[in-house]
Amino acid sequence: MLSYRHAFHAGNFADVLKHTVLVHCLRYLGQKDKAFCYIDTHAGPGDYTLTSDYAQQNREFDDGIGRLWQGSNYPACITDYVQLIKQYNTSPTLTHYPGSPWFARTLLRPQDRLCLYELHPTEQRILQKTTSKDRRITVYPDDGLKLAYGLLPPHERRGLVLIDPSYELKTDYGQVVDTLVKMHKRFATGTYALWYPVVSRRRNQLLERALQRTGIADMHLFELAVKPDSETPGMTACGMIVINPPWTLAANMAEAVPWLAQMLGDEGTGGYRVEVLAGA
Ligand code: SAM
Repeated sequence: MLSYRHAFHAGNFADVLKHTVLVHCLRYLGQKDKAFCYIDTHAGPGDYTLTSDYAQQNREFDDGIGRLWQGSNYPACITDYVQLIKQYNTSPTLTHYPGSPWFARTLLRPQDRLCLYELHPTEQRILQKTTSKDRRITVYPDDGLKLAYGLLPPHERRGLVLIDPSYELKTDYGQVVDTLVKMHKRFATGTYALWYPVVSRRRNQLLERALQRTGIADMHLFELAVKPDSETPGMTACGMIVINPPWTLAANMAEAVPWLAQMLGDEGTGGYRVEVLAGA
């Protein structure tokens, strides 16, 4: 049984990067009237209370959303993201943080659909509770990495897939590549957003090379580091690899990611990468 609970990490620097990219992609898809489908292979519970024992254990949100909560003059896509977190919190104090399913529910229109996979029974229960009244949403208590490709291509022929594993199992690094290949074969025009941590730089280099070897085109990488790479255990950076991104994403991230590296970096040691892994 998997032991990972995202409640320990909600609102940390990794969530800030991931959800900023997610919000931008969802907004872009929502610009056309035509319906689209959002698939979340690792949905999590979708709702986090930052005063809970889980979140309070390491207070990771202090060095993530906590550093952006009071600010102003953000890059445009950070303004959008922070406004959504403010909408989620009903008081001026930061006490709650939403998960990816909430961002999608909030930004999807009546004609759109959400398909949410979650494997952990406790997280499934919370997710079911918060989404059951919304007819646009289907929760799958299944393995999203193995099974979500079966939903492709969506009948809408427009869609975004978020792949956000915890990488608790080292095999996830290989499996995300296999999953992306299978999905892309069935739905080559879809947008795919893969989150990854940097714990061992070597493992990330292997992941990037494996993705490049797939031959999939139009693949962009946005990485945010809060510390330099290190041999000691712990996540120093994380990134999003986006296939078929909205054409507006790269320019927005070229402004936002360096800004985030300054705001969230550990005592001036933040860094970033904005790269094209494969051209269009
Ligand atoms: N996407 C969420 C967000 O941004 O708010 C966070 C997801 S969290 C990083 C990963 C979640 O995936 C955990 O809740 C875990 O229980 C679940 N999980 C792990 N392996 C899975 C799998 N193969 N299929 C579906 N869910 C899985």
